[in-house]
Amino acid sequence: MVDQLIRATAADGGIRVVGVTTTRLVEIARKRHELSYVATAALGRAMTAGLLLVSSMKEPQSRVNIRVKGDGPLGGLLVDAGLDGTVRGYVEKPEVELPPNADGKLDVGGAIGREGYLYIVRDMGRGYPYSSMTELVSGEIGDDLTHYLANSEQTPSALVLGVFTGADGVEAAGGLLLQVLPKAARDEGLVSLLEERLGSLTGFTPLLRAGKSLPQIFEELVGDMGLEMLPGSQMVQFSCRCTRDRMLSALRMLGIDELKDMIEVDKGAEAVCHFCNEKYRADSDQLQDLIDDLELQANQA
Ligand code: ZN
Repeated sequence: MVDQLIRATAADGGIRVVGVTTTRLVEIARKRHELSYVATAALGRAMTAGLLLVSSMKEPQSRVNIRVKGDGPLGGLLVDAGLDGTVRGYVEKPEVELPPNADGKLDVGGAIGREGYLYIVRDMGRGYPYSSMTELVSGEIGDDLTHYLANSEQTPSALVLGVFTGADGVEAAGGLLLQVLPKAARDEGLVSLLEERLGSLTGFTPLLRAGKSLPQIFEELVGDMGLEMLPGSQMVQFSCRCTRDRMLSALRMLGIDELKDMIEVDKGAEAVCHFCNEKYRADSDQLQDLIDDLELQANQA
């Protein structure tokens, strides 16, 4: 089944509910980056969160970047998610694996580290991105983002993120975001009620693994609070914006001497996209084209 994002409201529009399944796209990220189990969980949670966060933005080109930088062995991660349903991301040390934590779960907090920062950049595509930073709470990503939403965006929110990986790859991944909107924000009881509900939900990934759909999970969560599903679902996918042309223009910026050196020493160049691990190779002829172009430009100047 394709990954999708759906929206709903509850409590007379006072609560915003967004759910997303990301099983396929996290599996694609796992394969592309050759992620360990714990790295799959960390990046999967962050990619899922990126899609949930960007879903409330209005401008069609809107994007959210999530950067997590902790003191753990994973060395940080970066996610870029768009309102168009595309998401990409990477971790610095994809091979790092850790033993399960005391609860027998993947130790994402240990891998990210509990000391560090969470950076969020919201870009509406108009050239003035809005960025903010908070300290990590646990490094588990879900807690850190809940803390961020409550403090930086002053939107009381409850967030759950889950990634379950078996021996054959990602079996279930997704997330839920419940937000109390300004019109209902004075109702403090509502926030704790939502947190309670999320806490009583017997895990999100087990429900997905058991074949429950997002509407069924919404129903279970806030079905008695005037749940109204918003029409339509949005397809979400792992997608990178890198292209061969962009890679060539990056090489071009190295300058004539460096490019000549690459021809001499390596008979070409290889560039790897951080976000999707795509490898682009330029041979000597292509590098020479860049040099010719640069020289032509220099002579014209
Ligand atoms: Zn790429």
